[in-house]
Amino acid sequence: MILESSNKSETMPALFIGHGSPMNTVKDNEFTKSLANLGRTLPKPKAIMVVSAHWLTQGTYVTCTRKPQTIHDFYGFPEELYTIDYPSPGAPDCARMVTKLSNGQIRCDNDWGLDHASWAVLRHIYPEADIPVFEMSLDYSFNEWQPKPLEYHYKLAYRLRELRTKGVLIIGSGNIVHNLRVVDFKHDDAEPYDWAVEFDEKVRSDLIRENHEALLNCEKGCKATPYAVPTLDHYLPMIYVVATRAKNEPLAFTYEGFQNRSVSMRCFRIG
Ligand code: ZN
Repeated sequence: MILESSNKSETMPALFIGHGSPMNTVKDNEFTKSLANLGRTLPKPKAIMVVSAHWLTQGTYVTCTRKPQTIHDFYGFPEELYTIDYPSPGAPDCARMVTKLSNGQIRCDNDWGLDHASWAVLRHIYPEADIPVFEMSLDYSFNEWQPKPLEYHYKLAYRLRELRTKGVLIIGSGNIVHNLRVVDFKHDDAEPYDWAVEFDEKVRSDLIRENHEALLNCEKGCKATPYAVPTLDHYLPMIYVVATRAKNEPLAFTYEGFQNRSVSMRCFRIG
């Protein structure tokens, strides 16, 4: 007798989180409330993979450690941020699955841990730190706007979409608009620059229309791009999330807004 499998695996959502300043880790604001709400509404993942804007490497790596350390990768912030620990276990088996799905293009790393692109948001989404977490780096073996084309990252991420059917929650953690040269760290609620609003709106509309081509060619036809995306590190994590989206798969913005004039805090959920 043949029985049909009853534990047909459900596809996990994927998230893009605009993380902003590390200060959000200890703040209670509309943004951090939206993260806490995600934690209450998402299905419980087997593991979480965070594509980090703050781990830039030559080639692409995933953390294969059993117990990732909390990395405080910023300077000049209040002491309390440096005492925060996010003691989640690692997910070496899932990380190795990523290296296999990429045919070895992504490799294991045993030195990195969790930088604030992970823990500053996970502390709000999953405060218990009881779900295994691993990070993926961004291949940054290029200079700013002379990159391996964005398509390179998109195609790499596309090969990882299967992770979502294996219980892995993919989180891209960056910011759609991120310009630290003109940031106003003193005022979270300062009026955003016009170019920041313009670029954020453009991306919003491209996401709604599933226009991945436009997201991959964001420098075309938009004067705001050089100001909004002066470097690719915070934009790329979004590309990794978008690449795992199935055609017509629902997308919802879970937070919209700006902080510090030049940082878009837009977040979205796919699935
Ligand atoms: Zn950042």
